[in-house]
Amino acid sequence: MIIAIDGYSSCGKSTVAKAIAKRLKLNYIDSGAMYRAVTYYFLQNNIPFSKTADDVVTEYTSILENIHIQFIRNEQTGQSEIYLNGKNIEVEIRQMDVSDNVSYVSAIKSVRKKLVVMQQQMATMGHLVMDGRDIGTTVFPNADLKIFMTASPEVRVYRRYHELIEKGIKVTPDEIRKNIELRDYEDTHREESPLRKPDDAIILDNTYMSRDEQVQFVLDAVAKLKKAI
Ligand code: C5P
Repeated sequence: MIIAIDGYSSCGKSTVAKAIAKRLKLNYIDSGAMYRAVTYYFLQNNIPFSKTADDVVTEYTSILENIHIQFIRNEQTGQSEIYLNGKNIEVEIRQMDVSDNVSYVSAIKSVRKKLVVMQQQMATMGHLVMDGRDIGTTVFPNADLKIFMTASPEVRVYRRYHELIEKGIKVTPDEIRKNIELRDYEDTHREESPLRKPDDAIILDNTYMSRDEQVQFVLDAVAKLKKAI
């Protein structure tokens, strides 16, 4: 079974996706972490990228060949963690410099092409839950279940702020708000696979929902699906 979860920035997609994966014994893939890993590589290696959506595909081809991304399970936490060229970069990719640039890097066609192929290959390893921005529209247009998540901007800022503070990342609510606005704008306005609700997705607005209620919402949708088969 493939479950695609798309939606706006910081509305809790990965929290729900992880919980669903655990309950249904599916693999979980955080596709946003992959775009963050490429952005981290670009920043570390001073690779130029445009903030005006220009893309010269040939410029990036050889650069992208040097980027190797893996997810490896941390046996202590039970969570899979992202590695870039053999180095664990779970903490680095959540820093604000990556968040502030990821929507520009993810708009580059050749970056998307490479990551979409990788994501599709991950499905051959079995059943999975993947969250992101184009999972139901581009990566797995035939996913068994598509969820489109949203929440009010205030709730999203509040939740992301506390999540980062808990991880020890210093930010202000205002920085978070600006970053969420920027990413939502860039992600919905880019030319290549912009964020949009897949026509056949179920909307999950979690503004007033607890984590358990959201998980139950998706489990109910899975149960309905199984009944219909
Ligand atoms: O999911 P997360 O917020 O970590 O994603 C970071 C960024 O990666 C998004 O704002 C978006 O620019 C990009 N992204 C994407 N397509 C995906 C997942 C993430 O363009 N499938």
